[in-house]
Amino acid sequence: MARFIFITGGVVSSLGKGLTSAALGALLQARGFSVRLRKLDPYLNVDPGTMSPFEHGEVFVTDDGAETDLDLGHYERFTGVAARATDSVSSGRIYSNVLEKERRGDYLGKTIQVIPHVTNEIKDFIRIGEDEVDFMLCEIGGTVGDIEALPFFEAIRQFSQEKPRGQCLFMHLTLIPYLAAAGELKTKPTQHSVKELRTIGIAPDVLVCRSEHPIPQKEREKIALFCNVRPDNVIPAYDLNSIYEAPLALHREGLDQAILDAFAISPAPKPDLTRWEDVAERIEHPEGEVKVAIVGKYTRLEDAYKSIKEALTHGGIANRVKVKVEWVDSELFESEDPAPHLEGFHAILVPGGFGERGTEGKIRAARYAREKKIPYLGICLGMQMAVIEAARNVAGIAAAGSEEFDHEAGRRRFEPVVYHLKEWVQGNRTVKRRADDDKGGTMRLGAYTAVLKEGSKVAEIYGATEIEERHRHRYEVDTKYRDQLEEKGLIFSGMSPDGRLPEIVEWQDHPWFIGVQFHPELKSKPFDPHPLFRDFIRAAIETSRLV
Ligand code: GLN
Repeated sequence: MARFIFITGGVVSSLGKGLTSAALGALLQARGFSVRLRKLDPYLNVDPGTMSPFEHGEVFVTDDGAETDLDLGHYERFTGVAARATDSVSSGRIYSNVLEKERRGDYLGKTIQVIPHVTNEIKDFIRIGEDEVDFMLCEIGGTVGDIEALPFFEAIRQFSQEKPRGQCLFMHLTLIPYLAAAGELKTKPTQHSVKELRTIGIAPDVLVCRSEHPIPQKEREKIALFCNVRPDNVIPAYDLNSIYEAPLALHREGLDQAILDAFAISPAPKPDLTRWEDVAERIEHPEGEVKVAIVGKYTRLEDAYKSIKEALTHGGIANRVKVKVEWVDSELFESEDPAPHLEGFHAILVPGGFGERGTEGKIRAARYAREKKIPYLGICLGMQMAVIEAARNVAGIAAAGSEEFDHEAGRRRFEPVVYHLKEWVQGNRTVKRRADDDKGGTMRLGAYTAVLKEGSKVAEIYGATEIEERHRHRYEVDTKYRDQLEEKGLIFSGMSPDGRLPEIVEWQDHPWFIGVQFHPELKSKPFDPHPLFRDFIRAAIETSRLV
């Protein structure tokens, strides 16, 4: 039976709760325990799939096709445990389940209330798969005191009472601000935050205190005294050069030891941290640097491409170089030469995206990379843009475009080289979609197999001819144009097993130009960099040697 660690946050948002949870998961693994991490989000969207990246950052897609919170990406990158649909839930999903049951008559005429019906639904979610792992880490989104998070706090309080004593633990993340004028660290916000938690019946066992300055022992003791935790359980968390140093840093501060002590696990198994020591050593001692441009529309919010940024870092770790990522807004060169914006980069990445805005710039970036022989990685929309570029400028299909943009504009302007996918095979069933379907959860989502062409660049990079990658798209390159494009050198080197859906294209006479319909970034880890990112950075290093 799993032990449960509930992670909450206080004082301010963006303290790095997700990262801290992920790093704790990694530390427990290093001690030989199995873990699963979960996120419970208080917002009312059923899932983040329909939210703009400006609202919520990246949508992280699981193998089983759920559109989830980006924290699940951190969990996977730190633990290597593939997240599942049942690792992410929102108030919207919980209420929608409860209301569905109410309509079905499952509650047998009862009045439906937050307690117990909503809290029961939350507890049922937390329990899923509890027998499978040693530790279940559940992070509650938002900050203590948020009205919409109350049912979650109440549910975890109840849950801990229902379990045998010693099986649940509460870890609370807070901020210790530094007042420059007073020259002091301030513990009062933390005290208030813990007080708020205790008002709703939760007494934290461990406090993780974010701080930009060292927290002296005296202050730790004060926090412990006023917050009713043991002094050893006040764990400072300082800013780090790289997030991948977090497991080592938190271990040094005694986080995993405090957790094991709180669960009375004694003697505690010794940790094996070599994986993290190796990653940290590679990050701290790079042997060079490459500059990569991410050409997109959501450049104002780095979180929109979180996993891509991390996967590039992993590619750097694999090749022992620092990867300097710059965000280039494709709207700056919708109708002009992109060269002034793209010169000096050793590689260009065009990521996924939705809608027409900025796409002419992305098409120009693809052309620039093709003509200048700069390594290009096109992901999802980035692949579709590369195909449209090839169709227009190489295969002579002047009006080539995507049906997505025609749908958006409400009139036909393009020859649909990329069309709206309405039918595909998943396992042994056929999935069907209609133009007027709901937007939420109706894309081609999750893991699908692709078959790679023998002798192609991608088959060599993967060292395999069958791969499985995660998808999130509604549009698809039309095989109708395959012969025409292949004749010009754009090879369809990865296809769905039935041969109907292009999964990968690559330019034959180019050092490194690959477009993929899936999202390889979602499966990359610092200790196991994704082959495409590893090789993309290797190619960028070669380019950097030429200039
Ligand atoms: N908008 C494109 C589609 O739906 C690309 C999606 C993406 O990049 N994730 O196919």
